Amino acid sequence: MPFPDVVTPAARAALADVRFTPYWLDQPSRPAARPALVGDVEADLVVIGGGLSGLWTAYEARRRFPDWSVILLEGQRIAEAASGRNGGFVAASLTHGLPNGMSRWPGEMPELLRLGQANLDGIVSVVEAEGIDCDLVRSGELDVAVDGYQVADLREMVEAAGALGLDYEFLDRDAVRSMVDSPTYHAGVLDRRGVVMVDPARLSWGLASAAERAGVVIHEQTRVTDLGRAGTGMVVTTDFGSVRAGRVALATSAFPPLLRRLGHYVVPVYDSVLMTEPLTPEQRASIGWQDRIGIGDAGNQFHYYRITHDGRILWGGYDASYYGGFNPMHERQGAPFARLSEHFRYTFPQLEGLRFTHAWAGAIDTCSRFSAFWGTAYDGRLSYSLGFTGLGVGASRFGAQVMLDLLSGESTERTRLEMVRTKPIPFPPEPIRGIGIGITRRAIDKADRNEGRRNIWLRTLDRIGLGFDS
Ligand SMILES: Cc1cc2nc3c(=O)[nH]c(=O)nc-3n(C[C@H](O)[C@H](O)[C@H](O)COP(=O)(O)OP(=O)(O)OC[C@H]3O[C@@H](n4cnc5c(N)ncnc54)[C@H](O)[C@@H]3O)c2cc1C
Repeated sequence: MPFPDVVTPAARAALADVRFTPYWLDQPSRPAARPALVGDVEADLVVIGGGLSGLWTAYEARRRFPDWSVILLEGQRIAEAASGRNGGFVAASLTHGLPNGMSRWPGEMPELLRLGQANLDGIVSVVEAEGIDCDLVRSGELDVAVDGYQVADLREMVEAAGALGLDYEFLDRDAVRSMVDSPTYHAGVLDRRGVVMVDPARLSWGLASAAERAGVVIHEQTRVTDLGRAGTGMVVTTDFGSVRAGRVALATSAFPPLLRRLGHYVVPVYDSVLMTEPLTPEQRASIGWQDRIGIGDAGNQFHYYRITHDGRILWGGYDASYYGGFNPMHERQGAPFARLSEHFRYTFPQLEGLRFTHAWAGAIDTCSRFSAFWGTAYDGRLSYSLGFTGLGVGASRFGAQVMLDLLSGESTERTRLEMVRTKPIPFPPEPIRGIGIGITRRAIDKADRNEGRRNIWLRTLDRIGLGFDS
């Protein structure tokens, strides 16, 4: 059965006390802001953006090139944007999931899976070695069919995964409901190895401290306003200063791009999240969800949900909203929150009366192939990594390593990948872009309400490899 369209008064009432701020950033352990850059300085590498992409780049740069001096500039606060607003699912997948990877790079999938798992293991190693307190749990992920037609899709996914050596497990209705009990579940697929859960803000803060210990200089509240060539290097201009640097790594995600060409490839899509109050032991028992496994449902528009260390449920996703551009005002749109609240009641009727404490949204750097892309500019002095489309908590470390490969001019197993060498199909300019995304979103919604049947518009987009997702 599709998720309900109508929002009931009970679903609205559950939102009455929310704070419109990301739960992850609303913690006493949030570090104070580091001082802004004031004046003109020099470095071998300047990293722009203090989300996970930029932080991994700075941290890995000092480990790989100990001679390089590294400065990171963050326009707001560390993890203020997507990196402190996400679900905290750290996936091995570099390709926004198996089906997307198989449809785009079938020949490369064994290598992409190997590199992805190595990347995830590398993240866990750094968290352990640096003592980063980010509530990392080797939880795995459960994908659930919430409509009858999705069962066959899940079975197909298990078969395809098996052929690639992945150990996914198919669960029938009883088996899945014995793990987590929702009347909406028809079946599930369990991936125990390929996903871990974190508190993403604490991962970012811990990584920032680890980068500093490794010698990186971080400036927060330091917006880069311009960049260009200077002699054999680059100059990066900020509100109150500048950095002259040999190399620049651009990790600004869905924000207005400092490199104009990137605006053709990435659109800011807003994704919304709710956090419940902590569940009582009785409430937790009523849904049978005893461990910390992350859950995603299997529609085109999907929810993701997980349990926090203090027993709350994070519940996000479904609406991927494009409002025509980047603007923090879009983080406060009420309709997606109300819809999420209704869908939560529908999924867990046992939790009637549970209230939400936090509601927030964040911009996702959506590109038409749903997975990151890379490139260089200014004769190789600048590299960029973006387009993670909602699955970048883990992949950002891989993306950072590719940026460093490109800046150092080294040919590596990463830079030889077709996925790394190619770019997504660009989005058309406005107003066609907005009209096209609107038609696509409506078609996806219709498909989700019609047993997944994709109409001619979606099938045409599929054929040319152009998509829209979050
Ligand atoms: C609601 C939501 C849920 C998500 N859930 C998941 C999930 O569960 N799992 C997953 O893998 N991924 C998820 N993602 C995606 C994931 O959060 C990101 O892909 C990942 O954190 C990498 O982010 P980033 O560093 O590339 O971008 P960001 O975290 O957005 O960082 C970019 C930074 O650049 C800074 N910046 C921009 N322009 C400038 C400038 N001119 N000067 C200085 N600084 C600048 C910004 O202030 C920002 O801090 C989610 C995203 C959102 C929004």
